[in-house]
Amino acid sequence: MGKWLLMLQDCDSEVEQLEYVKTTLPERVALADIRDKMKDLYSRNTGFRIKKDAITEKQRNLQMEVNTVVARKKIFDRKMRSGQLFSSREIEAMTKEIDNLDMRAEQLQDEQFELMLDLEELEQELDGLQTEVDQLSTRSDQLLKIVNSKINSLDTKIQSAMKRRTEIERHVPGDIIYRYDTIRMRAGGVGAARLQNGKCSGCHLTVTPASITSTRVDSNVAVCENCGRFLIEDVWN
Ligand SMILES: [Zn+2]
Repeated sequence: MGKWLLMLQDCDSEVEQLEYVKTTLPERVALADIRDKMKDLYSRNTGFRIKKDAITEKQRNLQMEVNTVVARKKIFDRKMRSGQLFSSREIEAMTKEIDNLDMRAEQLQDEQFELMLDLEELEQELDGLQTEVDQLSTRSDQLLKIVNSKINSLDTKIQSAMKRRTEIERHVPGDIIYRYDTIRMRAGGVGAARLQNGKCSGCHLTVTPASITSTRVDSNVAVCENCGRFLIEDVWN
């Protein structure tokens, strides 16, 4: 029976190893890294969009002010050209008002120009972000394909190991398998160990011949008095 227990152990260790490979694929790590970068890009993108909205709002307000200034100037110009008689004080006041409006119009133009530059800069930043997002998406798609294909191939190997386990189980009594599984679960995945030079290969402690005799469950299977694992002696001889 010892031979079968060791084969069971090999099968289970193989499955465990394959499952470990599955969860630690480097492509998965790279994908997680991309996800973090994407999150960062999205939050930067949101920041830029908010800024852009603020600039657009300012532009709208400025445009409204420009429209008002232009309309007021038209009224004054029309009055001045109407040929009506105005007193010199009125003319002076109107000229001053027109000058003020001209000045304000110039200021507004400058402000509009500044905003346009800000907007251009922001749009460049947004374009840059989009390029980064596109590149990361492409890379992420490639990695996903690799991960899926690797997982499929690992799953096939796992399934074949499980199938082998079912075959092996037929050669071991159910209560021994139950005990083996229980020990395996609490002893780091190892339920059956070899007895080598008087030591258990599971816990590496010396096992006394007396304990081997007292715990023997089969011609070449005993139980380690230290760790509780099944101990298999010289199975292949
Ligand atoms: Zn042991």
